[in-house]
Amino acid sequence: MMAAEFTPIISNAHQQAASHLAWLMDTRTRAVKAQATVDDVAQGFGNDLGDLIQELLRGGHRLSKADFRRDMKKLVKDYARQVFEVGWEEGGGDVAEVESDDLALLEGFVNEQQNYVNDFSDWLTDKESDLDIVPDRVALWVASMMNLGQQAKARAMGNPRLTLRRRPGAPIPKAPCDTCAELENTTHTLAWWRGKNPDGADYTKRNGNEAYICGRWDEACYHSLFHARTGEKVID
Ligand SMILES: [Zn+2]
Ligand SMILES: [Zn+2]
Repeated sequence: MMAAEFTPIISNAHQQAASHLAWLMDTRTRAVKAQATVDDVAQGFGNDLGDLIQELLRGGHRLSKADFRRDMKKLVKDYARQVFEVGWEEGGGDVAEVESDDLALLEGFVNEQQNYVNDFSDWLTDKESDLDIVPDRVALWVASMMNLGQQAKARAMGNPRLTLRRRPGAPIPKAPCDTCAELENTTHTLAWWRGKNPDGADYTKRNGNEAYICGRWDEACYHSLFHARTGEKVID
């Protein structure tokens, strides 16, 4: 008989349960971190990423492109987890209560962001690239990391009602894209913004969100989601 026939079939549910368990074990055995905010963690990611990029660009092949890719993917994963936890706690949640559905958000983010790493390293090492915009590119990575922390925070708050509004002090009072124009000043639950809407669209992500004509890129979209009752900005 072929050994392959005995290979157990691992269902998605099994995998989810396993990763959930791993999460709980890890969370309980780790020491409590000094109180950090989502912004702190995202900035820490930006600093470490900046250092890593410098190491790559300094030349002398001290850090190969392959090493860079591996290290950056690890940075993404480690910081994503941290920003998720900190966001969860900021939202008043207990990390022991994180559910597999929430973990799917974290894992989806890590996969998505790690997928950009190879292209990013190619861009960094391409002689044609304008390296003056490296800080802008890093800022986008940081903004996406911050968005993950804010989403975790919003989830930990339950299912708050949120209003899409113009951020105070937004730079240019330019016309919003058609999507933003339609959604501006409307209030819905977090679940609605995340996909329980007629279009099944996730309106919460920043930077490269296909549900928006403007892509919700930082330079094009000056809208954020605010808590309908308290007015607190929940998701940038
Ligand atoms: Zn827009
Ligand atoms: Zn907008």
